[in-house]
Amino acid sequence: MRAFSHRTLPASIVFGAGARRQLPALLAAAQRSRALVVTTPGQVGLGEDLLGLLGDRAVGVFAGARMHTPVDVTEQAVERARTLDADCLVAVGGGSTTGLAKAVSVRLGIPQFILPTTYAGSEVTPVLGETENGRKTTRRAAAILPGHVIYDPELTLSLPVAVSVTSAINALAHAAEALYARDLSPIVALMAREAIAVLAGVLPAIKAAPSALEARSDALYAAWLCGTCLGSVGMGLHHQLCHVLGGSFGLPHAPTHCVILPHALAYNRTAAPEAYAQIGAALGVADAAIGLQALVQALGGPLSLQALGMPQHGLERVVDLLLEAPYDNPAPLERSRLEVLLLNAWAGAPPHTGLQD
Ligand code: NAD
Repeated sequence: MRAFSHRTLPASIVFGAGARRQLPALLAAAQRSRALVVTTPGQVGLGEDLLGLLGDRAVGVFAGARMHTPVDVTEQAVERARTLDADCLVAVGGGSTTGLAKAVSVRLGIPQFILPTTYAGSEVTPVLGETENGRKTTRRAAAILPGHVIYDPELTLSLPVAVSVTSAINALAHAAEALYARDLSPIVALMAREAIAVLAGVLPAIKAAPSALEARSDALYAAWLCGTCLGSVGMGLHHQLCHVLGGSFGLPHAPTHCVILPHALAYNRTAAPEAYAQIGAALGVADAAIGLQALVQALGGPLSLQALGMPQHGLERVVDLLLEAPYDNPAPLERSRLEVLLLNAWAGAPPHTGLQD
């Protein structure tokens, strides 16, 4: 056992099919009686269901959440919360909705109750990414971490298979990069290995039967573990690449993770051999990067940046942005290796593990 340090994030987690029905009691226990429900335009019906469930403990719905937490949307939600004199936020949706709840909560100092409907994992992290004037900035602060998370797998049954796959690989990326994080602790490593194994096992089941509650419950449990890994330790090249591609080129968040992860893992194969072997073992494959890309392909997930709308002439700019302020990563960031990685990811080619040389 190597030396380590570990900090547990303070949040209350409730998990189970139908757990959303505990919401009124959870608000009452927290002495909150004027909830503003936030969600995306596509999930406004779900927001209204929760409004009904909360009865006189809720004051309204704001259904304007958007990807990458634009500051102008946050300002509208803050205004609504102030007008309605809201004393807490109830967020029902994916990472975009959670991002909005965090952004409003940190501005107004009111608590958050998050009901995740994807596998993004943002609900258990003290991290907030916001966009303004085309630039995405990310900050980490204890006040951003939601205090209450209610995982109800019934809320994920409607998540389309294609979104389920990309969202789950987004989650898996948090666990995979945690395994080679400099600040990894043994308990985070346990969570990461468990999460990867559960996701690898359950995704084919979700593809075959998207409304099977047992498989959905397992996936959401794994997503919680993955999010906890993300909230606990630093992330490396993979997250930086996705941050740049999403923030500067507008690529969709979860599908970008899906394409990049095999390539980023391959980049770190020789620099982080122990983590690489653990990821492969948890996936149940001989080689983590090759096996992961094969899993994504079998699940019908995206394999190329080109298919996500990335222009080939933008790849050099991505490398420039990566090298401006590299994240801590097991393998040093080198222009020539990054160019190979990005070209392979753009074209949907197999990841370059170095074994091909
Ligand atoms: P999302 O929240 O944008 O959801 C994608 C789409 O799926 C939306 O249109 C939404 O309405 C729909 N949807 C969500 N759940 C559904 C369900 N159960 N049934 C049917 N449709 C559903 O996407 P996401 O991938 O969950 O989140 C992406 C955002 O989260 C990005 O902005 C990303 O930066 C952020 N994020 C932040 C962190 C963090 O720690 N700060 C972590 C992960 C992701």
